[in-house]
Amino acid sequence: MDSATAFREAFRSSKHIVVIAGAGLSAASGIPTFRDGGGMWRSLSATALATPEAFEANPSLVWQFYHYRRTKCLEAKPNSAHQVVAKMSLPAQLRKVAPEAKSFHLITQNVDRLSVDTLNALVNVEASPSSSTADTPTGDKPTDKKPQKRPVFPNSILEMHGPIFDVRCTACDHCEEDRTDPLCPALGAANASFANYTDAGTKEINIPLADLPRCRACGALARPGVVWFGEKPYYLDEINSIVYKADMCLVIGTSSTVRPASTYAYRVQRHGGKVAVFNLDPSEKDEQADFVFRGGCESVLPSLFPELA
Ligand SMILES: [Zn+2]
Repeated sequence: MDSATAFREAFRSSKHIVVIAGAGLSAASGIPTFRDGGGMWRSLSATALATPEAFEANPSLVWQFYHYRRTKCLEAKPNSAHQVVAKMSLPAQLRKVAPEAKSFHLITQNVDRLSVDTLNALVNVEASPSSSTADTPTGDKPTDKKPQKRPVFPNSILEMHGPIFDVRCTACDHCEEDRTDPLCPALGAANASFANYTDAGTKEINIPLADLPRCRACGALARPGVVWFGEKPYYLDEINSIVYKADMCLVIGTSSTVRPASTYAYRVQRHGGKVAVFNLDPSEKDEQADFVFRGGCESVLPSLFPELA
């Protein structure tokens, strides 16, 4: 039996499926990866840009960098790997390839929202306009045009590093998603002067504090709503119980040697579950995985799961 057939068979009998995703999932959408070849942190300093201390020391530089990344994320389109994984969140779709599936979760380290946007597009089905009520004399929306929603596994996507579009207050608890681009005129002008991520993370523009994004609730300085190095990722308790229950773990686009993917996959295996690794580059712990698939996940996943492509 070849490994694709063996994997599909194991997947078919699994009940609690979890996907651990990293930057490789979004690479084909043009979002740069971090540490591997061409990775963003090769030319930029994570400690100067992605820590609470960095923001404290130079909020302008940190905002420039995150604002540039936001703009790139807003321009990015989901790829076919996002599609396959998003369809797994729909019980009717997942059961085509895993008939006994009882739960599905995507634990993603990505902040680009592409998985969430893909799933939302699948879940919200536009009701077809009914001819009898399409033209109401009052101009009110006919009630039967209310969008229908496809059933979805509950809380199926956990963005452990937050979404990059969240703007969080540094003083109060206020946090909101804001996809306005630019977020403020000063950051828009800064964006226009950057040719690439390295520019955005190194050019000293020195935007005054008053011209950086402010909290809509209290007016204090706001920060990007992502989780930085040294901060606690979101949903750790939920993730622990998901991993504890999982009998099938797909590690997609993240090195299986880097925490937390390595610990989660190991824990699934330790209680008898299977682990499948999907990555461009080999990594040390691949040999511990039950299945390893090399190549871009945007082509490997649709070929393994044509039912979900
Ligand atoms: Zn506030």
